[in-house]
Amino acid sequence: MKLSSLLVAAILLAVQPSGGGLHIYVIDVEGGGAALMVGPSNESMLIDSGSGGALAERDSRRIADAMRAAGLAKINYLFTTHYDGDHVGGAPAANAVAHFDRFFDHGEMEAKWEQNANGVPRYNAYLEIARGRRTTTNPGDTIPLQGVKVDVVASHGDVIAKPINGGGERNAFCSAADAKPPNTTENSQCTGVLVSYGGFTFLDVGDLTWDKETDLACPVNKLGRVSLLLATHHGFFNDQSGAPALLWALRPQVVIANNGPRKGLAASAFERIQKVEGLEGLWQSHLALATDAAHNTSADMIANTEASDDCKGHWIRVDVGSNRQFTVTNGRNNVSRTYQVR
Ligand SMILES: [Zn+2]
Ligand SMILES: [Zn+2]
Repeated sequence: MKLSSLLVAAILLAVQPSGGGLHIYVIDVEGGGAALMVGPSNESMLIDSGSGGALAERDSRRIADAMRAAGLAKINYLFTTHYDGDHVGGAPAANAVAHFDRFFDHGEMEAKWEQNANGVPRYNAYLEIARGRRTTTNPGDTIPLQGVKVDVVASHGDVIAKPINGGGERNAFCSAADAKPPNTTENSQCTGVLVSYGGFTFLDVGDLTWDKETDLACPVNKLGRVSLLLATHHGFFNDQSGAPALLWALRPQVVIANNGPRKGLAASAFERIQKVEGLEGLWQSHLALATDAAHNTSADMIANTEASDDCKGHWIRVDVGSNRQFTVTNGRNNVSRTYQVR
């Protein structure tokens, strides 16, 4: 081994979180989606790739920063929840830094589901990088990330038929008054995963809509309880997601909101999260600037406090050991808290 490669190896060892375990980086893409998971054998998967266009350089740089922090030279899989710009727009730029081997998504994009602007060219750009290496997910599938169980719970408008993760109980939070009509946007087609490792569980369903969340939760809760929830749709954006029947039945110990400075985590969303029984912590990618201090979590658990123009893009990292503990760390100030998996 040459001295230079020894040096690289030493640097990688120094920056890597303690060996083994599962590590999740919730990357700040300003109210978009990008969560990097690194399993115990160092196989990795990025769930969503941030925005494209003028924002692609920023978001791919932040993805590269998280890769560097994790000691990764590449990312094995790209899992795309849906084809809105803040989730797949960044895929070509992310691919240039991550060199994905395989691509998982909910299947063909259909015009009848409204996407946000420039849906067709964006989808075509994704097809270009994923061609021949694409897998359509179905509810009930598993993603082969070594050492971690990754269950697909929803895709292309369907949800799992049978409960998993100890679910199946009748759900007292199902209420006819809270029902919403079928959503007609691309968000309703989201695919999403329940990730399990040594008793720890993590749910990321992208921007899955309220009606589909209700399908997962009512009349029985099909997902059981989770350790960590990525708050759907950047913290229940415009109340299109965040059905209380699912949120309260999941009883997450910890919630992370990948909100933007002015996207997601409105006061109503914050209040709904606070009503989760046994909630131990809420962490935020951003200070929600449109509300007040009473509707933001404690300042040291917020990764970014500025408006987007001045934002440094700090991540939030979750380290899961095999000892039924997980630690959440704020990349801005290194503040961390450790939780015991229930
Ligand atoms: Zn989104
Ligand atoms: Zn969306």
